[in-house]
Amino acid sequence: MNSIEELRHQVINVAKRLPDYGLVWMAGGTICARDSETGYVVVTPSGMTYSDLTASDMIVTDMQMNIIDGKHRPSVALNLWTGFFRARPDLNAMVHTHSPFATAFSVIGEPIPILTETQANWFGGPIPVTPYLSVDDERFATLPVELLGQGFGVLLGQHGVITLGADLDGALERAVTLEEAARTYSIAKTIGNPLVFSDEMSRKSFNYYHQKYGQNFKDEA
Ligand SMILES: [Zn+2]
Repeated sequence: MNSIEELRHQVINVAKRLPDYGLVWMAGGTICARDSETGYVVVTPSGMTYSDLTASDMIVTDMQMNIIDGKHRPSVALNLWTGFFRARPDLNAMVHTHSPFATAFSVIGEPIPILTETQANWFGGPIPVTPYLSVDDERFATLPVELLGQGFGVLLGQHGVITLGADLDGALERAVTLEEAARTYSIAKTIGNPLVFSDEMSRKSFNYYHQKYGQNFKDEA
């Protein structure tokens, strides 16, 4: 199996796990990953329920969004997904969902603060949020990339959540961690005033974790 074939299988396997973690129902969400050998991108097709799909339904494009192989239409936001990879050579995988607790922050237009050590270890700083951007807005493919900076997640205003990683496992782990943190925050708010990590605390925790546990840490980004 060549590297693209292998990546097609990895992408559909991650997509099929999203409902298990409460991140996606029916056809919501997108998975996109870059093959380091060819530079091609594998992306889930638009608006299709993952449980019905196989690796052969995945779409392969180049970084300029020309379709190399695929029988379906790619996600309408492919210019954004490839934009992240163009800006960040260290990132090769993206998970986009509408998971409700994290998406709630995008609805109130507030970044998700760092609340727990696990979240600090994976993200290193608060998760920024864009204003609402329709797909035909000229900032749709650029503003989320700018706000991401050197981070690993960004919220699309009144839309959903994007997490990234050096590989698919890292992007998925961040999607799950972020939804869990946002859910914890909602619960904490009902019983008191949640404490949040300062930027310095977040960065310190992130750096410590990556240096100390680097060899065991699945995502080396
Ligand atoms: Zn979406």
